[in-house]
Amino acid sequence: MRVLVLGGGSVGTMFANRMRKAFSKDEVEIIVLERSEKHIYQPAFTLLVFDLEDQKNIIRPTKDLFFEGINLIIDEATKIDPQNNKVATKRHGEISYDYLVIATGATFNLDEPEGIKEGLEKGKNVFSFYDMEGALKLGKALKDIDGGTIVSSLCDLPIKCPAAPIKFILMAEDMMRARGIRDKFKFVLTSPLPQAFSREPYASKIDEICRRRGVEVVSNFSPGEVDHEKGVLRDYSGKEVEFDLLSLVPSLEGENVVQGSEDVGDAVGWVSCDKHHMVNRTFSNIYGIGDASDFPTSKTASGARKQAAILTERMKEIVRGEKPAATYDGHIICPILTRDKRVIFAEFNYTESISPSLESYVNWVVKVYMLRSLYFNLMLPGLV
Ligand SMILES: Cc1cc2nc3c(=O)[nH]c(=O)nc-3n(C[C@H](O)[C@H](O)[C@H](O)COP(=O)(O)OP(=O)(O)OC[C@H]3O[C@@H](n4cnc5c(N)ncnc54)[C@H](O)[C@@H]3O)c2cc1C
Repeated sequence: MRVLVLGGGSVGTMFANRMRKAFSKDEVEIIVLERSEKHIYQPAFTLLVFDLEDQKNIIRPTKDLFFEGINLIIDEATKIDPQNNKVATKRHGEISYDYLVIATGATFNLDEPEGIKEGLEKGKNVFSFYDMEGALKLGKALKDIDGGTIVSSLCDLPIKCPAAPIKFILMAEDMMRARGIRDKFKFVLTSPLPQAFSREPYASKIDEICRRRGVEVVSNFSPGEVDHEKGVLRDYSGKEVEFDLLSLVPSLEGENVVQGSEDVGDAVGWVSCDKHHMVNRTFSNIYGIGDASDFPTSKTASGARKQAAILTERMKEIVRGEKPAATYDGHIICPILTRDKRVIFAEFNYTESISPSLESYVNWVVKVYMLRSLYFNLMLPGLV
């Protein structure tokens, strides 16, 4: 049996390594098709902004992360042919599969809102910390600014780690307080939702923290235009928020290869999957995991870890000739940095919230000092 994994980022690596441990090479051939030679630990981008992480610690060569016996091909998938169980690549021709696991993550849509591209390119007052370069630029801009309005906004949902814009604004407020210049700033957080966060009890807690710390929350706000020259963010209804420094998370969508392959994904390229079985709604030998899929839960590395483990269980059941029964319940954990030395862990699944809404120092230690090492040493090799 041949399993082809499209995308060797967080979830593709976790899944391929788990599969290699679960099966001998004679039982299952595992091919990973990944276009990038570098693997970057994305959850650290928020930490980079505030000098809580060093960029050299978060990049590893892709090839070093896979167990022996996994055939890693560095190339780009250009089209999926699900009728004939084949994937076309840029340089390696077509690769056939028995099972296809789509783990291609998400990409930015910079076509909307109007002005986002120009604002980011100018790099004077509009930033996005959703890639490494942007995180470093935003960190520098924060150090240089000594007064004005700092706005944290997101264009649309879903985004990776939906709490990240909240972490940014609360940490920025805390930073200016520590610098003794808090009174020279106004802080604004916008959200397309009626509250800053989607789930209780975390949503009420974040609203309470924002109120207490003087961070204005503008809800039901979906940016339609970024005017970097005037320093104004407008939503589709004409509501305006002024800024001197804007941190903006662009809209995300599925990768081109999914968008361009018929019946695999939805209109914006998320792989259409059953939210429990992770199997594609049209093709029973295609699975979607990680950010690439359309699961109605937050796009996080913690969710990716669970999905990789459960899909491996399903593959074991398939190879044993059983009807696969292992299911994903939507479980994720999202660490929300609220100030120096304090983090709330929002842990929930499709149906219930699991962790208390507690700002804790222990959570800070786990998030800031332990998770990167856990990720590279235990999560990617599929040991936890
Ligand atoms: C700012 C920020 C903060 C975050 N904070 C947290 C956090 O605190 N906790 C948490 O759990 N998660 C967090 N996340 C989310 C987490 O990083 C992602 O959910 C996780 O990395 C998703 O893994 P993935 O494998 O689905 O996607 P990725 O890791 O992005 O991997 C997708 C891979 O597919 C490859 N690919 C795409 N298209 C093709 C193609 N056509 N051919 C070949 N290869 C292709 C890409 O090169 C990439 O390597 C954060 C993310 C960001 C950006």
